[in-house]
Amino acid sequence: MSRNNAPHVTVHETIPCRVLVGRGARHEIPGEIGRLGAQRVLLVATRSAQAAADQLAEALGTRLAARFDGPVVHTPVAVTAEAMKIIGETGADSVVAIGGGSAVGLAKALSARTGMPQVAVPTTYAGSEVTPVLGETENGVKTTRRDQAIAPGTVVYDPELTLTMPVGLTLTSSLNALAHAVEALWAPDATAATDALATEAAAGILTMLPAVLDDPSGPAGRERLQESAWLAGLCLAQTRMGLHHQLAHALGGTFGLPHAELHALLLAHVLAFNLPGAPKADARLRRITGGDPVTVVGRLARSHDGPTTLGALGVPRDGLRAVAERIAAQPYPNPRPPEAEALTRLLEEAW
Ligand code: NAD
Repeated sequence: MSRNNAPHVTVHETIPCRVLVGRGARHEIPGEIGRLGAQRVLLVATRSAQAAADQLAEALGTRLAARFDGPVVHTPVAVTAEAMKIIGETGADSVVAIGGGSAVGLAKALSARTGMPQVAVPTTYAGSEVTPVLGETENGVKTTRRDQAIAPGTVVYDPELTLTMPVGLTLTSSLNALAHAVEALWAPDATAATDALATEAAAGILTMLPAVLDDPSGPAGRERLQESAWLAGLCLAQTRMGLHHQLAHALGGTFGLPHAELHALLLAHVLAFNLPGAPKADARLRRITGGDPVTVVGRLARSHDGPTTLGALGVPRDGLRAVAERIAAQPYPNPRPPEAEALTRLLEEAW
């Protein structure tokens, strides 16, 4: 109770989800489909997951209704409509998604339209598989909705499916996951549970990522990174994200930028801006990094051999001020007030 006796209550809501974790977990998928009582599976996979999709298709045999190999980033509704047509033609009663956030997003969109059960088999660290959030795009406009029914009921984490991630994607996708954990630490609705998830996720990513970048095919490091990304995804599901996600959403939507690369290059700049106003996050990240989190994360981000600045991603410098003003005009919880002047400086640094 606060001094004026007004109750100070935070609601921590978890979403029912069955999670399988471990090397070879993908071989359990046919059994999981049986548990769901499904007879006709639509298999959604990106080309990067073709080998795993082929293997699953064979294991499913006559229970495979159809395959759809065309998920696209940010879930365009036109692509979802194509997949819906296949569902109509084949009588599919369930969907399995293998791939990054794009494949998982499509399965969520299909499930939202049909109520069909979904099994998500992520191959990146995006975390979408454990969130009740769906972002969809139509005519270049992204709309996001949140509904517990959107979250996949079954998630299969098989670290062997992440061994093919190129070094660049490993780095940017890990920093994308780290951003979920960091924002949960300074979230207004953080609880003891989300603090624990976020701290463990950040520790796993920051200690394991350098080793995995040195030896991308080492399964042990991959296992810990994937587990950390799972916990980070739970942070994304259970807390309100702050400035980092607002910036990524505004910049990504305005200029059509790649998801993980954008998150990766922004994070150190947002840390530098927010940590002075977020003592708990600062203390925990300092303990994990044994130094200055801004320096450590910045060094990791700059080691990417792809674009590491907004300028290199193709953002026009004269477009930064408008993004800063738009964000400053929509107040939302953040440890430091996001004023347009200061935000413009942050974006110019990132440019
Ligand atoms: P992605 O799914 O678009 O994948 C990026 C690229 O990596 C693709 O070319 C893909 O084929 C390839 N790839 C994926 N896994 C691979 C692997 N193991 N080996 C080799 N290549 C691989 O990108 P993403 O960053 O995973 O997801 C981004 C999408 O997810 C966006 O649409 C974003 O909006 C969404 N997202 C949603 C949520 C949510 O909670 N709703 C959370 C995070 C991300």
